[in-house]
Amino acid sequence: MIEQRHDLPSAAPGTQAHWLSLHFGTAGSGPKAVIQCALHADEVPGLLVGVHLRRELTRLERQGRIRGEIVLVPAANVLGAAQGLLGAAIGRFDLNTGVNYNRGYRHLTPELLRTLTGRLGSDAAANTAIIRQACADLLMAWTPTSPAEALKRSLQWLAVDADTVLDLHCDSQALMHLYAPTPWAETGAALGQCLGARVVLLAKESGDDPFDESVSRHWWELQEAFAAQHPIELGCFSTTVELRGEADVTHDLAEGDAQGLLAFLEQRGHLEPGSSAKAAAASRCDVLPLEGVDPLTSPCGGIVVFACALGDEVRAGQTVAEVIDPLTAESTPVCTKVDGVFFAHSKTRWALRGERIGKVAGAKAFRSGKLLSP
Ligand SMILES: [Zn+2]
Repeated sequence: MIEQRHDLPSAAPGTQAHWLSLHFGTAGSGPKAVIQCALHADEVPGLLVGVHLRRELTRLERQGRIRGEIVLVPAANVLGAAQGLLGAAIGRFDLNTGVNYNRGYRHLTPELLRTLTGRLGSDAAANTAIIRQACADLLMAWTPTSPAEALKRSLQWLAVDADTVLDLHCDSQALMHLYAPTPWAETGAALGQCLGARVVLLAKESGDDPFDESVSRHWWELQEAFAAQHPIELGCFSTTVELRGEADVTHDLAEGDAQGLLAFLEQRGHLEPGSSAKAAAASRCDVLPLEGVDPLTSPCGGIVVFACALGDEVRAGQTVAEVIDPLTAESTPVCTKVDGVFFAHSKTRWALRGERIGKVAGAKAFRSGKLLSP
């Protein structure tokens, strides 16, 4: 294993942050996978999965079972990890700007269309190599203005030439679920099975340029743009894995999730067969459009009492929660607009008017525009 240190520019005199990437196997000798833990720094389940993955990848490397290179970023967001506000960890947003650490990555397609014209040929594999180099060059030309931007640039650069990118997050309180690109629906379903996920949510563009899309989206966009002229592969499967809820941090869960991720990597050809990685037991996993998720919004402030449990299958119009005004004891129902599965809700039981308090995944696309939480 080779450990690489990535220094970030100093935010103020006397301060310096860096992050680490752990490289298992041999770069350039086969496929590349990147597994990134806790880009939202306060989403701890991924950090513990990383600890278990590090031990297993060390063993697999010793046994000569890694094909190409597997990179583990054990703590992706060292900037967010140091942020707190009045006793609460703040790892989702840069406190200086309010910008989400998982938004604002570079959408590479417009620049690629300009720089690739005249450089692609009739060999798909050769085109893949050219496209990957062009992506790396574009990211090197991005001059970050802050440590947070420098972090984003370096994370995107590390993953942009990978075949498989697994970005490990968690929800507030939730069942295991994934976000995956629509053109990779089958692969997303396979990962969902390995992890025992309840739903896989598909989109081609979620809005605001999250990390996972920044390393995969340009492949299908270039495919569409150059369809009649050059063969272009889908060079990267990337996904955001939501490892249940924030408090789901136990060795048993992390060990099982690490095994599920490795079983998937073996299926994808990143490990020699027979790695002994164990996928989750077979369970129901629905593959659904992200445009079909109903974000339940609190109609007023008050006490949140859920009427349904995570995993319940609900019908359009059904009350999923009530919000109670403690001054009047008046109860206001929160109903879902879709038939689907109630798979995530907030961990707190006090809501403000307009706050998102839960999610129901339905089969029919009905939303458009920005599809992710802020
Ligand atoms: Zn997250």
